[in-house]
Amino acid sequence: MPYSPRVHHRLVERLGRERVLVSPEELLTYSYDATPMLGHRPEAVAIVKNADEVAFVHRLANEELCPLVPRGSGTGLSGGSVPVPGSVVLLMTHMNRILEIDSRNLTATVEPGVITGVLQAEVEKLGLFYPPDPGSARICTLGGNVAENAGGLRGLKYGVTKNYVMGMEVVLPTGELLKLGGKCVKDVAGYNLSDFLVGSEGLLGTFTQFTLKLLPKPEARKTMLAVYDSISDAAETVSDIIAAHILPCTLEFLDQMTVRCVEESFQLGLLTDCGALLLIEVDGRQPVVEEDARTIMDICRKRHARSLSLAGGEDEAEGLRAARRAAFSALARARPTCILEDVTVPRSEVAPMVEVVRRIAKEEDLLIANFGHAGDGNLHPTCLTDERNESEIERVHRAFTAIFHAAVRMGGTITGEHGVGIAKKPFLECVAGPEGLELMKKLKATLDPNAILNPGKMFEAKPRREGPLPGEGRAEPRRAQR
Ligand SMILES: Cc1cc2nc3c(=O)[nH]c(=O)nc-3n(C[C@H](O)[C@H](O)[C@H](O)COP(=O)(O)OP(=O)(O)OC[C@H]3O[C@@H](n4cnc5c(N)ncnc54)[C@H](O)[C@@H]3O)c2cc1C
Repeated sequence: MPYSPRVHHRLVERLGRERVLVSPEELLTYSYDATPMLGHRPEAVAIVKNADEVAFVHRLANEELCPLVPRGSGTGLSGGSVPVPGSVVLLMTHMNRILEIDSRNLTATVEPGVITGVLQAEVEKLGLFYPPDPGSARICTLGGNVAENAGGLRGLKYGVTKNYVMGMEVVLPTGELLKLGGKCVKDVAGYNLSDFLVGSEGLLGTFTQFTLKLLPKPEARKTMLAVYDSISDAAETVSDIIAAHILPCTLEFLDQMTVRCVEESFQLGLLTDCGALLLIEVDGRQPVVEEDARTIMDICRKRHARSLSLAGGEDEAEGLRAARRAAFSALARARPTCILEDVTVPRSEVAPMVEVVRRIAKEEDLLIANFGHAGDGNLHPTCLTDERNESEIERVHRAFTAIFHAAVRMGGTITGEHGVGIAKKPFLECVAGPEGLELMKKLKATLDPNAILNPGKMFEAKPRREGPLPGEGRAEPRRAQR
């Protein structure tokens, strides 16, 4: 049965009244994440402070067949932490201690509610470096990052979150606490269950601790901004830089519509008639960084960059990064609804993919801006629309369906970093295939026989017993609950 007075009583008994939120105002706050047009009010929010409490809530949920939705900061862009009907939100943000920074082993041991940017800043004070850098680093949690295998602005050179998870403590859906991996650089004892759980989107367990890999902080960094009249020159610059065997840590792209929205919102002095803009950063040993920056500037000039800026110091670099950091929030202000997508194609297909998005936007008469991690082939086509306009929303769905299928045809995927959640459920099979999808469902059923943990995300998870799944059903459009 979903949430009941008995579940409420047992939660309050264990966590205390102040850590079981049930007032309508509080529940509204936890009804949605950063994905537009999705939302559902939970029955309660349980604030947990340690792994034992997490295990207790999991066991209770199994006994009472009450759906549970783990939640970090709620910045997800696929509906992963949007509550399902009858559910309890398991709020992880109060488990937010950095337990250890081990400079000898280059590791950090952290709780899942630590904000990503806080860990980055703390390790940098010690001359160390935690590379994963999602655009939301100042607000998202490490738990959310591991659950989504978050990428970000440094993926091209440094990879994504999974490359930095060496070990974890996780509560399985049925309540058992597991410790996996640790500080050993090499460990091939049995299946790598820790790797398997990265990217599981809160379906296969709730993380309560991580051991994360750190690197020495790069000695030097150079930041450049190149402005182009033509989008294809910008795309060719990306290919030429990689062909020159330079791996920038950041290689980000903004198209004209994105640049215009950023300028309108934040007045950074950007050239709004440009075709595209590239933010490029290289890091490493000082002499290599100097040489790579020179080579990149030459490539940009050869590819007809209309203007080229090289930051003199960290303040100037922050100024050049501002346009990219502001892209999403600027687009979100432009029209009532902003639907940000996340297709990834092989790097060689970035220019054709940008063209496909432009063509589809034109055919469907929609405003679709494009920006993203060009160096990883990860683009964020972003539709500026209005959810109240039903016929336009129909065209938006048609356009994105065409964009996803085009990406898959090019050897790409429907999501590079935001995950499947609710938003991409209908498209998972076109990437995973029917057998792949079936295997994912079997793994879920094995670990979560009662389908209590984040049910209805990624795919429909059926409990092994007869009868309907508690919380089964789609999260409702956010508008419907106002
Ligand atoms: C402005 C903006 C920029 C962004 N830029 C990027 C980017 O560059 N790269 C990128 O990859 N993403 C980006 N995102 C998306 C989002 O920030 C990431 O997916 C992030 O990892 C989510 O973290 P969170 O703490 O907000 O998690 P939530 O949104 O709360 O949850 C996300 C998922 O993780 C699960 N979860 C959370 N905590 C746990 C836990 N302890 N155990 C098990 N499961 C858990 C939830 O159930 C849910 O399925 C951006 C979002 C915004 C709003």
